[in-house]
Amino acid sequence: MSNQQKKQDSGSGSSSSVRGGTRLQDGGVVCYCGRDALVRQAWTDANPGRRFYRCGEGWKSACDYFRWRDVEPPSGWQKQALLEARDQLRLQAEELNTLRSRLASRGEEAENESTVELSEAVEKLMKENEALQVANHKLLEKKISLRQVYIVGCVGFVCGVVTLIQKMK
Ligand SMILES: [Zn+2]
Repeated sequence: MSNQQKKQDSGSGSSSSVRGGTRLQDGGVVCYCGRDALVRQAWTDANPGRRFYRCGEGWKSACDYFRWRDVEPPSGWQKQALLEARDQLRLQAEELNTLRSRLASRGEEAENESTVELSEAVEKLMKENEALQVANHKLLEKKISLRQVYIVGCVGFVCGVVTLIQKMK
């Protein structure tokens, strides 16, 4: 059981993750200006969590370079789950903002019970938010490792065929 767990962990670790924000560079993919393209993540209704390449200049975008990094579009229950997680994250972010501004407006007022309560609520929300984001990453990484298994399987099959042909010669 623990062995399988280890396998899964190393599998997801080897894939370049979205961790560290959107300014991740893959290398090898170059935009029209000759810069290393940036990897960004779409969160639209049609393509939740799907990553793509954009101009290496950043948000200024000197050129119109665009290419999907995740070749196949999201689909099925995973797409649905990503959309739900996205909406939940947005709601929580809004809630966090209102709580934060309420806290800030209290300013230098002495800490009373309700401020403590508020900051506890903010902390709790932030934790939930993090947990959701982790779940989101796991979902994406699961998709990626499934694809890797498929690719490895294909490569293995081709190698097998090649050795068979060589033996027959
Ligand atoms: Zn460019």
